[in-house]
Amino acid sequence: MAKMKALICRECGKEYPTKAIHVCELCFGPLEVKYNYEEIKQNISRKKIESGPHSMWRYIDLLPVEGAPSVGPHAGFTPMVRAKNLGAFLGLDELYIKNDTVNHPTLSFKDRVVAVALTRARELGFETVACASTGNLANSVAAHAAAAGMRCYVFIPGDLEAAKVLGNLIYKPNVVEVEGNYDDVNRLCSEIAGEHKWAFVNINIRPYYAEGSKTLAFETVEQLGWRAPDQVVIPMASGSLLTKIKKGLQEMETLGLIGKVKTKINGAQAEGCSPISTAFKEGRDFFRPVKPKTIAKSLAIGNPADGYYALKATAETGGAMDMVSDEEVVEGIKLLAQTEGIFAETAGGVTIGVLQKLVKQGIIKKGDVTVAYITGNGLKTQEAVIDAVGRPVRIQPSLVNFEKTFKMGKNGGADA
Ligand SMILES: *Cc1c(COP(=O)(O)O)cnc(C)c1O
Repeated sequence: MAKMKALICRECGKEYPTKAIHVCELCFGPLEVKYNYEEIKQNISRKKIESGPHSMWRYIDLLPVEGAPSVGPHAGFTPMVRAKNLGAFLGLDELYIKNDTVNHPTLSFKDRVVAVALTRARELGFETVACASTGNLANSVAAHAAAAGMRCYVFIPGDLEAAKVLGNLIYKPNVVEVEGNYDDVNRLCSEIAGEHKWAFVNINIRPYYAEGSKTLAFETVEQLGWRAPDQVVIPMASGSLLTKIKKGLQEMETLGLIGKVKTKINGAQAEGCSPISTAFKEGRDFFRPVKPKTIAKSLAIGNPADGYYALKATAETGGAMDMVSDEEVVEGIKLLAQTEGIFAETAGGVTIGVLQKLVKQGIIKKGDVTVAYITGNGLKTQEAVIDAVGRPVRIQPSLVNFEKTFKMGKNGGADA
């Protein structure tokens, strides 16, 4: 028997073959991958995983592909950084940063989901790949498609950061800039996907694509020495990443790789686009779509596909959600950079800002083993911080000038 059993409707439970489909024809619920855990359990062990490749593919037994990875062999297995300085600043004894700013090849967590999506798309016989993107997804699809020699279309909103636009063009896919926001892009792509037999990674390939996010949970557990954290803080756009980190932790328990998971799952959004966090704070289990207006463009989805499931996942674990202003996003980026030397994009500022809020509210406590997911690189969103970092000290090229500028006497004196 294969490790993948079927695609299963998350609402009514109807099962489908593992093809390029994503909605239930009976109830229109979203489909997800159903695994044969009994068989996987006999095949998996900590030792086997530890002797696997230094990439997310060391968890291939829990990923929805049939053969070996044919696209994105180096994605994942990014550093887990013990954040002593930031922890001390916030009053946390054991804080970790899961650092996907250095993911391969396009410096965001999207390299994980795309590696799975394109490997699966190839197995299903597709030659053209496409996506609707808030920025990072397009970069990753474009890069992986170039390396895999696949035809590629990426659809992006009209107001993306310069580095994210360039980060598509350099790989020479068809870059389609849509006059509208992500939700307009996504609607258009759903129509196109109905007409053209392409692998849209976050539409008809979404059940497979989304599973790639679980590897962040697997790595977290392994890198913490085979234990689940007490608290995690996760940025939310569609909400998919959050639901899959929960699923990944659950699978580690199901397979007997760790004991009972008690991790509290916390979600983070920016105030200018916080349909999920707002619903949570108002005690609703449904969200109201919004028109996004925030510098955290990678998270700017006003009508989040997995919003409902993210609310449910957080509530089930006893976690919380919150949101931060654009000013707090910038402060969060600076705080992480200046305490830990990690330059995150705006989504990282959202995560750090919300982490700080949850600590202040006493929701995350001093002794909690806490992991904050930093999902994208700051060099891609320089516009957000360019006016908040000052300028270099400019001097004439002479020793005298240098020492005068820094008010130093002869033989040093000041060491700062
Ligand atoms: C896409 C993205 C996310 C989260 O995406 P979901 O749609 O919620 O899975 C988080 N951070 C960054 C930087 C992203 O690009």
